[in-house]
Amino acid sequence: MAPLSARTTDNPVEKIAHNPGCAQGLEWIEHNTRWVTEEQIRLTEIAAPEMNETRRGEYLRTLLESSGLKVRTDKVGNVIGERPGADSSVVLIAAHLDTVFPAGTDLRVKRNGDRLEAPGISDNGAGLSALVGLARALAQSRISTSRTIVLAGDVGEEGEGNLRGIRSLVEEYGSRLFAVIAVDGPSIEHITTQAIASRRFEITITGPGGHSWSDFGAPNPITALARGIVQFSSVPMPDEPRSSFNFGVIEGGTSVNSIPARASVKIDLRSEAEPELARLEAALREAMRAALRQEIEAANAPPDALGLTFHSLGSRPAGKLAENSPLRETIQSVDRYLGNRSRLERSSTDANIPLSLGIPAVSLGAGGMGGGSHTLGEWYDPTGRALGLKRLYLAAIALAGIYR
Ligand SMILES: [Zn+2]
Repeated sequence: MAPLSARTTDNPVEKIAHNPGCAQGLEWIEHNTRWVTEEQIRLTEIAAPEMNETRRGEYLRTLLESSGLKVRTDKVGNVIGERPGADSSVVLIAAHLDTVFPAGTDLRVKRNGDRLEAPGISDNGAGLSALVGLARALAQSRISTSRTIVLAGDVGEEGEGNLRGIRSLVEEYGSRLFAVIAVDGPSIEHITTQAIASRRFEITITGPGGHSWSDFGAPNPITALARGIVQFSSVPMPDEPRSSFNFGVIEGGTSVNSIPARASVKIDLRSEAEPELARLEAALREAMRAALRQEIEAANAPPDALGLTFHSLGSRPAGKLAENSPLRETIQSVDRYLGNRSRLERSSTDANIPLSLGIPAVSLGAGGMGGGSHTLGEWYDPTGRALGLKRLYLAAIALAGIYR
């Protein structure tokens, strides 16, 4: 039996990691995770609600510029730093700037031992600060790459943003894109290679309204909406392809003693497969139409007494990374080199857009641990952060290729 030290490896990432120029970036990561965490706190405390990521973007811009990148802000608000390579092809690494939290949310980060607590600290404070750490580590490395590495903070990933930031980046770089990595959240136990499709709607029911006593019996939009929600909720959801729905926001009415003139609900439908999603949308529309009919019949009202509208809040296309994709092989080689165990996963992220267009893309975590995403109890723990940063750094260089 050969001694352990004689074990040969043909992992190309090992060669890259041992390149003296590249090793300097790894060394920087080893000693500077604290700085990255402090910048994560600063970024997280700058509000970035849906459709208003400007201030957080401006701060990210100064951080990327301080790492020597040429930075610009595009027309939708993406902050884009370029590290030019020898040829024109591009490795794009993006982290979304926006959060699900509305303006006015208390974003101050509470420190609880190693644990940091604040809305958005993980999603996507972890991803944004990893982008900043990556920019610094690349600045410390003494290598130039064949491909251009683009680091971008992008807008509109959450809620009703409809991925407008990544759409704009993919449109701009187009056929130059060799690979896209979306950095989202902390976990490094996964490689998201499959994009879940989603469709989101706001459903509104309108009616004549009236007085709760004198007009009693008139059709009620809230009641009609409730009937529709209950009916759709009993539609069976398949396990294969896995699918889901969520009624997330409900609004309507003006006072307890008025029959409402309007009620609306927002719903998110998701599926691993586009045809199943289309079937769910059809079932949703049918459930709402049936609910309207029932409410009108119960009120003995004319057929047009209630109005129903569907307004699209966005749709995300499905897509899947090819099994033999060099991008997947590269990330798995990096994981083998680092001893990181990861599994392939499906999710709905910025990677949906490139994947739906056949551009190789994955979503990866930033390192560290976190939880409570999209809740006020969100938290992050930087323990293990260096591993996540090294993973991104080695992946970026392996994909961009060492030129010299
Ligand atoms: Zn996210």
